[in-house]
Amino acid sequence: MKKASIVSIGNELLNGQTIDTNTTYLSGELLSIGIPVVSSFTIGDDVDAIVRTFNLAVADADIVMVTGGLGPTDDDLTRQAFAGYLGTELQLQADLLDRLENYFKKRNLQMSEKNKIQAYIPTGTKPIENSLGTAPGIMAQVKGKLIFAFPGVPSEMKRMFAVSVFPELQQFSGEQAVVVRKLRCFGAGESKIAELLGDACQRGRNPLVNCTVEYGIITLHIIATSRNKDTARQMVEKEEKTIRNTLGELVYGTAEQSLAEVVGEKLARQGKTIAVAESCTGGIVAGLLTDIPGASKYFTHGWITYSNAAKIRELAVAADLIEKYGAVSEQVAQAMAFNARNKARTDYAIGITGIAGPDGGTEQKPVGVVYISVDFDNGCDTKRCIFSHGRRSIRFRAAQTSLNMLRLRLNI
Ligand code: ATP
Repeated sequence: MKKASIVSIGNELLNGQTIDTNTTYLSGELLSIGIPVVSSFTIGDDVDAIVRTFNLAVADADIVMVTGGLGPTDDDLTRQAFAGYLGTELQLQADLLDRLENYFKKRNLQMSEKNKIQAYIPTGTKPIENSLGTAPGIMAQVKGKLIFAFPGVPSEMKRMFAVSVFPELQQFSGEQAVVVRKLRCFGAGESKIAELLGDACQRGRNPLVNCTVEYGIITLHIIATSRNKDTARQMVEKEEKTIRNTLGELVYGTAEQSLAEVVGEKLARQGKTIAVAESCTGGIVAGLLTDIPGASKYFTHGWITYSNAAKIRELAVAADLIEKYGAVSEQVAQAMAFNARNKARTDYAIGITGIAGPDGGTEQKPVGVVYISVDFDNGCDTKRCIFSHGRRSIRFRAAQTSLNMLRLRLNI
């Protein structure tokens, strides 16, 4: 099995200025063609440290992907380190210099002397064309191992990888197939899902089941490896079936599907409409729903009634209801949903009221408490939830939970 290692270069990755999205991208692309990433290194702008890291990465893997440090400035040291690692010198390439000069001429710009360094690559290596920027990539084959260096700018790196490297690696990886399928779940925590899945989550298993979480959405990655693509696909399908049987309605979708997308599809298919009345989520539910192309088929109205006065005036929530139970209460969430549905004349309406914090909590109603109602023709589902991890998380979790409640109602 061919393995890969990734080296990300740049001080900005070490001091918290830049999130290393290049490694995430490359890992996913490599895995999709059956090349697992076995190590990744992040290293600052220092030639000796980069050379040391090249040695570690090459010891770990058959393919090494390097990003960053190919720019023209003094802190861009990857090409020098690449030459140092190979024990060669940098050599000026006339065709690269021509290309660079043309790049600036076409844009009516004066090329700085410093840019010339980008026409140099280590002796014995090949350039990788960069159609979006000035820095060509560098490729070398050393003792059967492949090393690719790309600029750090994500758009340039992605284009160069897709055009010049991915097709070559597909052939290189030919001896094994990996099939990955994602299942998206909502409605239980990560540990509950792991407990329900039992042995399926064991490490070293094939298929392997990995789990990631974001705002309550749990993504299960089913990864099957085999010498044959069809066998790997069958393994994934069998595992998916078992997981779906175990988790039931907790699984809401596949791949990159969002709850809003799934809810939207169901509403459109059933010819139903939805309105929302939001307080603490401030329009997040409306935003998530209308982010989906074609939402006008089912989404009609949204109210953001943040103040009590707005709830009373715009949604006709009874003032004495607010007085008696408080604006953050089951009764007010229900009234918001019920009145929104009647005003909008939709089949469903969501009502949300809660305390996103950081202030405003009480002993009975702490920060994070949110009441969510889904009103429909002959009833209303209401839930009291307590979310945590700060204002942003509370608001997003509340919005996603409301969409999940609607999804479950649409399943009936
Ligand atoms: P440039 O010509 O822009 O100097 P370069 O190859 O030298 O290209 P860097 O200077 O290392 O690349 O990075 C350029 C920009 O690309 C950084 O400022 C950063 O915003 C982004 N970048 C670099 N590395 C990564 C990474 N691993 N993940 C995400 N973004 C990155």
